[in-house]
Amino acid sequence: MALPKRRKSHAKVRTRRQQWRATPVTSTKCPNCSLVMMPHRACMNCGHYNGRAVLPPRKSMRPDAQ
Ligand SMILES: [Zn+2]
Repeated sequence: MALPKRRKSHAKVRTRRQQWRATPVTSTKCPNCSLVMMPHRACMNCGHYNGRAVLPPRKSMRPDAQ
């Protein structure tokens, strides 16, 4: 099995591990119902995408909406 030739210092390991962090999830607001939704997907709440309804509307997840 291959072995590392030199021992890595704590600083080297730490800077390498700093690169390996999770990116925050991207989210956009629906232009129709302004609910937070995933980009490039139809809205899970109102079923709108690109300004028109593409999915049958579901029961609203917004507490203020009727
Ligand atoms: Zn929506």
